[in-house]
Amino acid sequence: MSVLVVGSIALDTVKTPFEEHADLLGGSASYCAVAASFFSPVKLVGVVGDDFPKQHVDFFRDRNMDLAGLQTVAGKTFRWSGEYMLDMNVRETRSVELNVFEHFNPVLPAEYTDSKFILLGNIGPNLQNHVLDQVKAPQFIIADTMDLWMNIAMDELKRLLTRIDMLILNDGEARQLTQQTSLVKAGQQIQQMGPKYVAIKKGEHGCLLFGPGTRFFSCGAYPLEDVHDPTGAGDTFAGGVAGYLANTNQGEVTFEDIRKAVVFGSVLASYNVEQFSLERMRTLTQQDIQDRYESFRLFSQFEVLT
Ligand code: AMP
Repeated sequence: MSVLVVGSIALDTVKTPFEEHADLLGGSASYCAVAASFFSPVKLVGVVGDDFPKQHVDFFRDRNMDLAGLQTVAGKTFRWSGEYMLDMNVRETRSVELNVFEHFNPVLPAEYTDSKFILLGNIGPNLQNHVLDQVKAPQFIIADTMDLWMNIAMDELKRLLTRIDMLILNDGEARQLTQQTSLVKAGQQIQQMGPKYVAIKKGEHGCLLFGPGTRFFSCGAYPLEDVHDPTGAGDTFAGGVAGYLANTNQGEVTFEDIRKAVVFGSVLASYNVEQFSLERMRTLTQQDIQDRYESFRLFSQFEVLT
């Protein structure tokens, strides 16, 4: 089963306390799609300008993506620039140039409209809703979002929440959305707004997964010695979750599937932050993923009380 991925495709400039790199491949859809492609085929929907380097399109193609939904229009690609502090959980956006992204209209090619697994990467909720308007009978819809949309498009975001199966967002965003300090209360409150499943990411501290009733899973983060660039960790996590679920599910998605999916998502995100942009994804192998899944399992295991 393939995953339909929509989101931003960007050229990023990223500064950490140790390094700075300009015009890197970035954007929510790029990270989501590449991560998902480790588990399932991907159909990519996004927009780039005519300055977008061919090597990046080749990279997507090398990951076996269907690029019929990738629009190339006259003008400059979306550009984003961010700077990380010594605590790399803290980031400041330095600049955003919307460029061709300003008028992005995600029109699905006809053959995409019967997609079953949908990953709505971080873009305006009006565009995420517009994608959902075009799919005929989706089986499982995951959406990512950010604080910006809570500030400027809350009504559209609330409408989106009633249409999706799972929301992925970070701790600060969950608090902003619900006005709750407790992440447990925030997760439960977001479920009441629509999605059956909610994953709240806590940066280098892992994530909380809320399912139906009392179903709950606290997933740590793989402990890394060196983080080089945290950009896209959340999108990579979401891509890993969606790709794993699309690959394993023919029938209904269960809480147990999603538990495993968030561990795979965390494993992929942990690899992604080891290098700038999507560089680490170019050399990552299935064996690397399996190996880290297993060591992560051993690091996180508790003994049964006797
Ligand atoms: P993350 O680190 O998960 O927040 O994702 C970072 C990526 O999101 C970068 O590659 C940016 O190009 C992209 N991005 C930043 N701001 C936006 C925005 N307003 N809409 C869509 N994508 C964005």
